Amino acid sequence: MKQAFDDSATPGFIYNGHPARVIFGFGTLAQVHDEVHRLGRRAIVLSTPQQVDQARHLSARLGDLSVGVFAEATMHTPVDVTERALKAVRELGADCTVALGGGSTTGLGKAIALRTDLPQIVIPTTYAGSEMTPILGETEHGAKKTIRDAKVLPETVIYDVDLTMSLPASLSASSGMNAIAHSVEALYAQDANPIVSLMACEGIEALAKALPGIVENPDDRAARWQALYGAWLSGTCLGAVGMGLHHKLCHTLGGAFDLPHAETHTIVLPHGVAYNARATQPAMARIAGALGAPEAAMGLYDLAGRIGAKRALRDIGMPEAGIARAAEMALANPYWNPRPLDLGSIKQLIARAWSGAPPDLAI
Ligand code: NAD
Repeated sequence: MKQAFDDSATPGFIYNGHPARVIFGFGTLAQVHDEVHRLGRRAIVLSTPQQVDQARHLSARLGDLSVGVFAEATMHTPVDVTERALKAVRELGADCTVALGGGSTTGLGKAIALRTDLPQIVIPTTYAGSEMTPILGETEHGAKKTIRDAKVLPETVIYDVDLTMSLPASLSASSGMNAIAHSVEALYAQDANPIVSLMACEGIEALAKALPGIVENPDDRAARWQALYGAWLSGTCLGAVGMGLHHKLCHTLGGAFDLPHAETHTIVLPHGVAYNARATQPAMARIAGALGAPEAAMGLYDLAGRIGAKRALRDIGMPEAGIARAAEMALANPYWNPRPLDLGSIKQLIARAWSGAPPDLAI
C-alpha cells in the first residue's frame, strides 16, 4: 500500500544567497586588469605590512590602473587603521580597492567599502573565508563590533591558488581549520538549509583531505587547490547562515585575551562541537562523514593533531585565570545555539581547551 506523504518530515526552509563573482584557479591573478577595468580605473592595493612586497608588485603590474599601495592592514580591523586608509583613498583619488591577503586585509577593504561604497576586488591568500561574507568585525577602544551589511560584500573575488603556495604550513593548518569551523557550524545553524549544508559537507571534506597533504608538502599544488576550494565553500556557508557557540566563544576569547584568530578557532572547535553534539546528532553524523572519522568532535581534534596545529589555549597566550571570566563573557549576550548555554559546562569546555585535553562529549 502506498504510504501517505509526511509533510512534517520535510520541513520548508529559507535560503539566502549572496551575489558573488568568483574567478578560481591557478594563475588567475592575470585577470585582475580586466576586473579593475570593470569596476574603475584607479585602484588602491591593500595589504598587511608583511605582504607589502607582493602588494607593490601587483600595483606595478596594474600600471596606470593603480594609484598606489596602503600596506597597514591589521588583524581585527582597527578603526584607526581604516581612517588612515580612507585618507589615502581620498588623497590618491582611488575609485576601487584591491585587497591582496588574508582576512585582515579583506577586512580593511570591507571597512573602506562600508564608508565609501567603493567597489572591491578581493584576492584571498589564506583560507579565512571573509571574502564571501557580508560581515565585518571592527575594533575600536579595545572592543570588537560585528556589522552585517551587504555593502561590504566584494564585487569580485579572485582565488589564485598560486598565491597560497607561500602560506607557511603552520598558518595553512590553522587557517584551514578556521574555514572548517564555518562549515561545521553551518550544519547545525538555526537557519541551516539543504543547499548550504551541501556546500558545508563538501567544504569540510575538501579541507580535511587537503590539509595533511599541505603540511607534509607545502608545494603540493593539488592539495593547495583543494584547500582553497574548501575555504571558498566554507566562507560561503559563514556568509549564508548564523553561527553558534563556537564562533561566539572564539570572538570572546580573541577579543578578551588578544589571541590569534585562526589558532583560537583551531583549538576551540572540537570542544564547541562536543558541547553541541547531543543536540545535533544528524549534523554530527554529516561532519564525521565529511572528515572520514568515526565521530565529529574527536575527528576534529585528531585532524588538528595530525596537521601539527596547537591544541591548547595556554600555548597561544591565554592565562588560566581567564577561564571563568571568558565563560561569563560568552554568556553575557544571549544568542541562539542548538544546546542551551550553561555556565558550568562552558567553563569546563574552556578549561579543557585551555589545557589541550581532548573534547568531552559528556560535559
Ligand atoms: P591574516 O589576514 O591576519 O594573515 C595572517 C598573516 O599571514 C599576515 O601577516 C599575512 O600578511 C600573512 N599571509 C597571508 N597570506 C599569506 C601567504 N599566502 N603567504 C605568506 N603570508 C601570508 O589572517 P587570517 O586568519 O586570514 O585573517 C584573520 C582576520 O580575518 C581576523 O581579523 C578575523 O576576524 C577576520 N575574519 C573575518 C571574517 C568575516 O567574515 N568577516 C571571516 C574570517 C576571518
